[in-house]
Amino acid sequence: MRVLKFGGTSVADAASLGQVTRIVERAAASEQVMVVVSAQAGVTDALVGAADHGRVEGLVATLARHHLGCLQAVRGPGFEAAQAAVAHRLGELEELLARPPGNQQRPAWHDAVLACGERLSVPVMVAALRAAGLEAAAFDATDLVVTDASFGEATVDQRATRQRVASWLGNLSTRVVPVVTGFIGGTEDGRVTTLGRGGSDYSAAVLGAASGASVIEIWTDVAGVMSASPRIVPDAVRLPALTFAVAREVAELGGKVLHPKTMEPAERAGVPIAVRCTFEAEQPGTVVGRCCRSARRAIGVTGVEGGAAVARALAGLAEPIDGSDLCVVGVVRHEAGKGRGAVARHAALLDRLRLPTMAVLASPSGHALLSLHRGFHLRRVVSRLHDVLVHGRTEDREHDRGRASLAPLPAFGIAPNGLAVGVRP
Ligand code: ADP
Ligand code: ASP
Ligand code: MG
Repeated sequence: MRVLKFGGTSVADAASLGQVTRIVERAAASEQVMVVVSAQAGVTDALVGAADHGRVEGLVATLARHHLGCLQAVRGPGFEAAQAAVAHRLGELEELLARPPGNQQRPAWHDAVLACGERLSVPVMVAALRAAGLEAAAFDATDLVVTDASFGEATVDQRATRQRVASWLGNLSTRVVPVVTGFIGGTEDGRVTTLGRGGSDYSAAVLGAASGASVIEIWTDVAGVMSASPRIVPDAVRLPALTFAVAREVAELGGKVLHPKTMEPAERAGVPIAVRCTFEAEQPGTVVGRCCRSARRAIGVTGVEGGAAVARALAGLAEPIDGSDLCVVGVVRHEAGKGRGAVARHAALLDRLRLPTMAVLASPSGHALLSLHRGFHLRRVVSRLHDVLVHGRTEDREHDRGRASLAPLPAFGIAPNGLAVGVRP
């Protein structure tokens, strides 16, 4: 079994669905496949806007235009059934939005609204695959991925999920290509939950682990996991191989291409993850798996403003600093923070590059060196570190030389979590 997950941009229009269809056809020719799909790009954001801010005007009509437009373009034998499924789902969404409940029921209602994105996407994908002659069928992850009732970010019960998936696959013809909603699960009593934003990658990993897949393929709109976000660093390079631990660190520090939870079920089940580009399907992408030599050498530079990553970094500091408006930049590499003096050397590099830094520490996993900066320095710090550490460009640029030197970081101490840390007041 191969699990193929397609993200929002991969399913957003007829041309992309054509690419996806070719990828699934090729995979299905050699192995049984399971397809996991996200909502079309922008749809979950629009549903959040409706649920949280009442932006409902024109929403159902827009969703109808997009999904029915894609269906018109693919046509084929599954057309009528898919059209009816989309219309039914849009009717349900309209009803949900017309009757927002009181506070107590609100989280469950919110998840039911957000779930509509993936539930609209699945019938369109099924129709596209059927038009290409594949025997595709729609499945709702509410019946497969068992979760608790923590709406908004539900926890998956992996053992119950494994049982559900085993009995489902046991009754499914191997000719059928199942197309499953990403991002959502269901409580034991059948209420829909969501797994957290960007959670379709995690869905794919949970389903891949539960089905004993040979690989979990995450098909997206970039060449793979890159040495930095291509939106910050246009000349970022593809990282061919990563360990699970390093991939998790990249994801937790803002590398949006994989949801941070994706690695856990895959690693536990020993299933590698392949990150591939839908629009350059012949390119090799990135493999995330158990350690190999090249995986140890990969370097990623990540950056994220505020949020959980900054809170975690602050928790590692010996002395408290004001955490508002901060960003954390990570240089991620296998065991980056474990060598003697690694933190001090990183602090010295930041200093030589004249990058205004508030604190330097190793991440608790030991696979990243972290630095804290004011939020507005994020792009500059990521770009400079990437230039020097990934491209090996000289540290001594005109640009750096002209600037006044900053006071050196104070002596390093040991933080409560046992990691070396330097803080600039
Ligand atoms: P999908 O809809 O396929 O799940 P996402 O938007 O969630 O796609 O993730 C892919 C995006 O992640 C890319 O378009 C890219 O801009 C962004 N990104 C951020 N950091 C990285 C990184 N280190 N490597 C690759 N992509 C990254
Ligand atoms: N559609 C969901 C989101 O936008 C899940 C995903 O795309 O992975 O958060
Ligand atoms: Mg994503």
